[in-house]
Amino acid sequence: MFAGVEMGGTKVMVAFGTGPEDLSAPVRIPTTTPEETLTNVERLIAGAATGARLLGIGVATFGPARLERTAPDWGTLLPTPKPGWGGAVIGPRLADAFGVPVAFETDVNGAAMGEGRWGAARGLGDHVYVTIGTGVGVGLIVNGAPLHGALHPEAGHIKVRRDPARDPFEGCCPFHGDCLEGLVSGPAIAARVGQPGETLSADDPVWDLIADYLAQAMATLTFVTAPERIVIGGGVGSHPAVLLATQRRLAKELNGYMPHLTSDEAIQAYLVRPALGDRSGVLGAIALAQTLFNSSQTTKAPDAPVSRGTPEEHPHDRRQLDG
Ligand code: ZN
Repeated sequence: MFAGVEMGGTKVMVAFGTGPEDLSAPVRIPTTTPEETLTNVERLIAGAATGARLLGIGVATFGPARLERTAPDWGTLLPTPKPGWGGAVIGPRLADAFGVPVAFETDVNGAAMGEGRWGAARGLGDHVYVTIGTGVGVGLIVNGAPLHGALHPEAGHIKVRRDPARDPFEGCCPFHGDCLEGLVSGPAIAARVGQPGETLSADDPVWDLIADYLAQAMATLTFVTAPERIVIGGGVGSHPAVLLATQRRLAKELNGYMPHLTSDEAIQAYLVRPALGDRSGVLGAIALAQTLFNSSQTTKAPDAPVSRGTPEEHPHDRRQLDG
């Protein structure tokens, strides 16, 4: 059995199992202080581990987070606007408490792994998961592993072209103004039109604007990492008007340049909804734990004690850019 922990800014979801067909009902814990929240997570894991053998734990967390396993502060959160959570120690704490390998990833990379293992990007080695809600998160899987760099990609903040005549709204990202997140997130829509997106009709012109920006960003992601598929979800991303309009505009943005993405059918199969619903995060955390566990088995004698692992054991740390 593996434990999947999806850490969000307002709630933590914890589930146990080995996949979608073998998954306990996710338990929701409110995100309060790190100490209280992580103690509750540990209690849940300890309870589940009395009835089955715990093989590993996967954590998919909000960020920014230190993912690099060789870093002295691996498994911790970096300075974050969420009060009290900057410096919170998560990975090492769970590894010490349970003595099993702990995978530690961003929430969006986790969801991308879940969709890749069991969902809408099943079997693909290069794909993208995009969620558009309170913010914009992008998880990138490249060569079968979540993409890391000096930190982790923050593709929700890429710049898109805005025509001030058409869209005078200057964006609401506190860092960049009219970056993608500053233009298409739920708060951006609410600030632009003066009411929440959920209350707007499907033919409201704002959706066309949102689709325009999303299509620009999807084209950029397509040009940069050439994914085999992009899975797009979240409250805004799942809006019925958004996906269709974004597919249409993406075809225009690419303009035939990518030979595999010239037909409407190809674009519709390329930009798709998630298949795991609200379970992609916890399932992704379980997928990460499984991957780490399996790699620890191939590099260690079966009975050797397992710990949080070394870089060689952890395929997610492979640097893609080494010459
Ligand atoms: Zn931004």
